[in-house]
Order: sequence, then structure tokens, then C-alpha cells
Amino acid sequence: MTHEWQPETLAVRAGSEHTAYGENSEAMFLTSSFVFENAAQAAARFGGQEPGNIYSRFTNPTVTMFQNKLAALEGAESCVATSSGMAAILAAVMGLCSAGDHVVASRSIFGTSVQLFANILTRWGLETTFVSLTDPDAWKAAAKANTKLFFVETPSNPLTEVCDINELADIAHNAGALLVVDNCFCTPALQKPLDLGADIIIHSATKYIDGQGRCLGGAVLGKKAVIEPVYGFLRTAGPTMSAFNAWVFLKGLETLHVRMEAHARNALALATWLEQQPGVERVYYPGLASHPQHALALKQQKSGGAILSFDVKGGQQAAWRLIDATKMISITANLGDAKSTITHPATTTHSRVSPEARAAAGIGDGLVRIAVGLEHIDDLKADLALLTQ
Ligand SMILES: *Cc1c(COP(=O)(O)O)cnc(C)c1O
Repeated sequence: MTHEWQPETLAVRAGSEHTAYGENSEAMFLTSSFVFENAAQAAARFGGQEPGNIYSRFTNPTVTMFQNKLAALEGAESCVATSSGMAAILAAVMGLCSAGDHVVASRSIFGTSVQLFANILTRWGLETTFVSLTDPDAWKAAAKANTKLFFVETPSNPLTEVCDINELADIAHNAGALLVVDNCFCTPALQKPLDLGADIIIHSATKYIDGQGRCLGGAVLGKKAVIEPVYGFLRTAGPTMSAFNAWVFLKGLETLHVRMEAHARNALALATWLEQQPGVERVYYPGLASHPQHALALKQQKSGGAILSFDVKGGQQAAWRLIDATKMISITANLGDAKSTITHPATTTHSRVSPEARAAAGIGDGLVRIAVGLEHIDDLKADLALLTQ
């Protein structure tokens, strides 16, 4: 009988390799190229007859350890690391689509992802139809004969809407398309999209995989045959992950489960408290019983996660007053950090969206988003004390 490791153990132990020096912490291989024993070995490596490293744009041992650890956590056959989350999305599209193909994407994806699909990839002949995250019929209706990918993020940012990954995977497969899930918000500690029927996972490692706001990176995961062309694009075009960043992410993954559990515990406590404050109109957090998709969220996620948003009474003026009154929480649009961050979506992350489209998406002028960090809950509440009045 073989004993299978639990996820927490995989995060600490999976993917590790050790050199002859016997180091316990994984080594950082800062080298652009690798040397060969002789000319014949060089030829065999280049010809693919012998496995091994050639050049760090193709493979690097530290990056490989990171890829193998993340693959073990997501239950994926294959993983390729990229220089950023956006590079992961670009590589997936470049590897799997051609000019004349079509993508169906959720309207509620990361703003830069919208820009990539709507403004850049269109110039290369890839058309994208944007639909509502939570309307399965709209996905069905948008699919065409040339649809290659369904692209989704769940929970969404900033309103934390959730889609049924299982159901969407069925719709995608019936349409002959692959389902891509950007799993940046939940990480494999809270949600495993491949187990729910998705074909491809995208990560911005910049967020919770790093966990302390230091490095940019990303990853694409899935079956070997699906990832092969994505890797082909990466090693040729070059947006691969640096060994230094891979080493930081390797260390980040070791503590992923304890961090995500602590983030979610803090977020639920803060969301519960916010719901009771006179200055708050409405709270959006999948871990709350008041969330319209609470049951679905807890069916496919281990917890509500770390991101919440809320409408303050008094619109933009009140939202800005609240943000400016904070003394501790960082005013920044980033997330996935030990430090809690606060942002006003209507004038930052979603300022390029027209006021009408924003209103239709439910992003009001009084909406505030907090990515809840690892500070003590009492100090977070104290920093938002304006809401108690
Ligand atoms: C940040 C983010 C990205 C892009 O990642 P970068 O590492 O900044 O390129 C993609 N998707 C989601 C959900 C994100 O939050």
C-alpha cells in the first residue's frame, strides 16, 4: 500500500530535489545556461534524446521544483511557470488558439485580462465574447463552431460572484471548447478546478502563492497534451519565470495552507462585523450566509477566501473618506499580501469601464474592496472605525 500525502504535506515536500551538498532548503540555480560532459551529450540534449537542462529559458531546476510542487497541489499532470500572471494567460492563448478562433470570457475577470482579450488579441484575429459569470445560458448562447476556450475567474473581483465550475465545464465541453479557470483568488488550498472538470488553471503567483507581495510570476496547469503547446510558446517567445522568483514562490507554497486559512478566518470575521455596522449598506463575501451563492461557494471552495467588498452609505465621498481615514491598511489595488489592502474599484481598477457598464455590473460609487491580510482582526476593525458611526 502506498501512502498518499495530504495537501499540506505536498505543499511542504512535493517537487523538492536536492544536490550532492545535501541542502535542506531548495537551492536557487541562478545560471542562464548548463554545461555538457562532451559534444555528444550536448547533441543528445538538444535533440531531445537525453533529458536535462540546456538553457534557463527552456528549463531551470529551481523553476522545475516550483512547477512540480504547484502541479502536485492542483492535481495537474503538467505545469509551466511564467514571468507574470498576464504572461500565463497570454501563453495559454498563444499555445492553444490561432487567428480566426473565438473565446468566451466572463465579463467579471481581472481588468488587464479584459484589455488583453478585447484590445490586443483582437489585432491578431482572436475574437472574444464577454458574458455574465453567473448566467449559464449566456455561455451556451455565445459558443460558436470556432470557440476554443471558455475563460473564467471565480470568485469574481470585486463583487465575489461565484460560478458553478462543474456546470460550466459541461457547457464548454459540449461546445468543443476547453474551460480555463483563473484560480488566483482561491489557490489550490481552497479550490481545485481540475477536480471540478476544468481543463486549464491559470495562476498569478504574484498574489497568494508569493503571499508577501515581493515577486511577479504565473503558471499554466493542465493535462500534458494541453500544456505542451503552451510550453512550446513559452520557451520560444520567452516570458518564462526567473529562478530567483521561482525560489521565492517555492518558499511561499510551503506556508500556503496556513496562510489561506488565516486569511479566510480574518475575512469572515471582518465581513460578519461589517454587516453589523451602521455605515455599511451591503457586504459581498461568499463565506457569509447572506451571499446569494453561499451554498455553491462552500460546495466548491473550502472557505469564502480572503477578498471581500462592501457598499458604504454615502457614495464615493464616504468611500474615499473611509479609505483616507485608515492608518494601517495599505491603500493599493494589489492583493494576496500579508498586509491588508483597501481600494475603491470605481475610481481605480474599474475606472476605465464606463459608468453605465459599471452600474450594470453592480460596481457602485460607494463600493470598497478589502483583501484581508494577516493582521489581528481587532486592529483591522479599529482601522475601519469610521463605519461604526
Ligand atoms: C493580478 C491578477 C492577474 C495578473 O497577474 P500579474 O502577475 O499581475 O500579471 C490575473 N488574474 C487575476 C485574478 C489577478 O488578480
